[in-house]
Amino acid sequence: MIIMKFGGSSLANAERIRHVVDIIKMNIDEKPLIVLSAMGDTTDHLLEAADRAIAGKVCIKDIRKLHLATAEALEVNADVIKDLFDELKNLLSGIALIKEFSPRTKDYLVSFGERLSVRLIAGYLNRIGVEAKFFDAWDIGFTSNNDHNNGEILEESYARIDEKLGHLDSHYAFTPIITGFIAKNKSGNITTLGRGGSDLTASVLGAALRAKEIQVWKDVDGILTTDPRIVTNAQPVKNISFEEASELAYFGAKVLHPRSIIPAMCKKIPVRVKNSYNPAHPGTLILSMIDDSSEMLRVLTFKKKVTVVDIVSTRMLGQYGFLAKVFQIFDEQKVSVDMLATSEVSISVTLDNRENGIEGLRTELEKISNVTIKTGKTIVTMVGNVKRSSEILERTFEVLNASAINVQMISQGASKVNISFIVDDKEADTCIRELHRAFFENS
Ligand code: ADP
Ligand code: ASP
Ligand code: MG
Repeated sequence: MIIMKFGGSSLANAERIRHVVDIIKMNIDEKPLIVLSAMGDTTDHLLEAADRAIAGKVCIKDIRKLHLATAEALEVNADVIKDLFDELKNLLSGIALIKEFSPRTKDYLVSFGERLSVRLIAGYLNRIGVEAKFFDAWDIGFTSNNDHNNGEILEESYARIDEKLGHLDSHYAFTPIITGFIAKNKSGNITTLGRGGSDLTASVLGAALRAKEIQVWKDVDGILTTDPRIVTNAQPVKNISFEEASELAYFGAKVLHPRSIIPAMCKKIPVRVKNSYNPAHPGTLILSMIDDSSEMLRVLTFKKKVTVVDIVSTRMLGQYGFLAKVFQIFDEQKVSVDMLATSEVSISVTLDNRENGIEGLRTELEKISNVTIKTGKTIVTMVGNVKRSSEILERTFEVLNASAINVQMISQGASKVNISFIVDDKEADTCIRELHRAFFENS
């Protein structure tokens, strides 16, 4: 049994869906379970529909048109999705009426994208003679916590998923087509797992069913040496460890959902990142151990628009008391930090760009320290061979020096595969291009 997850770009229109179905058919002997995202940019279109509703206009023309045109082109009876359009319109009318769009309502709204795509594609598979059944993830045991917009799948889900679908390994009578990205909390409300969350659904499913492999199909030839939108000749990476993949996803590489690697890693299930536009390419294989110490650096990644907070002790507290108090404040304010650097009297941390909560944090921190908040920063992260970290740092500083880019904070992660530093947002693209040239384009 394998898991095959197809992202929005792989499902952009009827033609792309036919390609995806060819890929599924080629792998049918592997007993694939299919996880699907919403078609194309449907999630964004749903969010735009909410903006329009708040402004008083209920309109789902673009979403309806894409799905109905796709159903027609694939010769699928559109009755399987018409009820969902009615439900969606009712929801938007409600939003227009009360002009309120809570995190809970947002999850309910964006869930329509995945619910539409599984019905359509299961319909198409059945029409061409491949027996398929669609499932909304909550019906096969996906239960999350109450964190709307960024839910965590609860541990108890794993046994329930196994109970619902585990038997398929021996009695594989149909291909399950499962919604990515969505779940329900214990109160029965729909939740989502964060943008790009279908990767996480695939990983949880693979771990719960002890699949042979989890495949995530994208529009690139695997994990690339850096973001191809910044460096057009970024190259696919053949192998990478779970630990490295986790770091790069967490530190901004848009190719994988930040938490998606963890379930697969816990059960040691290989994850393969493949290109649905180029299925013959082997892609990237993510495994427990990578025996390749010849490479210095594997991937260069970045996260823009982060905020740096410098906290300098006023020495009212000793060092131990100071650190404890600072972290207590972060905990109370529910602010999590990505990167951290300390000296005896100061701490610098980075936070995701946030409009809310930062003034509350400042007020509390200022009771024990002098605080400087700097926005518009980028974390650049180098994921690679820690045994060669001195060489990595030496070459990095040569490049940055030559480009007159000033490093504002630096840390080497405890997982020992990442070195991160901060530059200004406006220097980020140059920094990535120059580092890519130095590490990957010169032998
Ligand atoms: P999907 O939604 O189909 O699952 P995503 O759009 O979420 O796929 O992720 C694929 C995209 O991630 C690529 O098109 C690419 O532009 C971007 N990307 C950013 N960094 C990387 C990287 N290091 N390797 C590969 N792709 C990357
Ligand atoms: N459709 C969701 C998104 O666009 C989830 C996903 O694609 O994985 O973020
Ligand atoms: Mg995505």
